[in-house]
Amino acid sequence: MFRKLKSRSISKHRTYAIDEIAKALSVHKGTVGRWIRSGELKPVDSGRPVIVHGVEVHRFIKARKPKKQKCDLDQWFCMGCRQPRHAAFCEAEIVSANTASCNVMALCAECAAIMHKRFSLSALSQLKGKIDLTVPQALQHLIDSSIPCLNVVLKNTTEV
Ligand SMILES: [Zn+2]
Repeated sequence: MFRKLKSRSISKHRTYAIDEIAKALSVHKGTVGRWIRSGELKPVDSGRPVIVHGVEVHRFIKARKPKKQKCDLDQWFCMGCRQPRHAAFCEAEIVSANTASCNVMALCAECAAIMHKRFSLSALSQLKGKIDLTVPQALQHLIDSSIPCLNVVLKNTTEV
């Protein structure tokens, strides 16, 4: 599990012992030792006691931050794969919508996990050409009209 580390209390102009880094980052000493053994966090030298430059601690924390991954229009971010993925069978379903945007559900093409993504209505019309979009009957009036009007919604619901 990824935990966000706060480097605010680490000065770039000092060196730190393992227990000082552990205390400043609120992690166990063993965790800092593991980072050093794995080569992720580089000590000043191979001598004892092990000390690390503050600037190195900052570099390590910055490098640890997960990189933002951008999804293409026809991709969803799969929480199972932790990566942008295409919809299985190029199919997706609109599960909810309001006058400005809608929530589109799809299954991951790799692991079949359920993925959700919010689309603006203009982005949705672009998506229509790329994948097979299922629109439930109850939401059709919102998606088909270019300028959605709340009155139409009210009229339709009173007719039913
Ligand atoms: Zn997946």
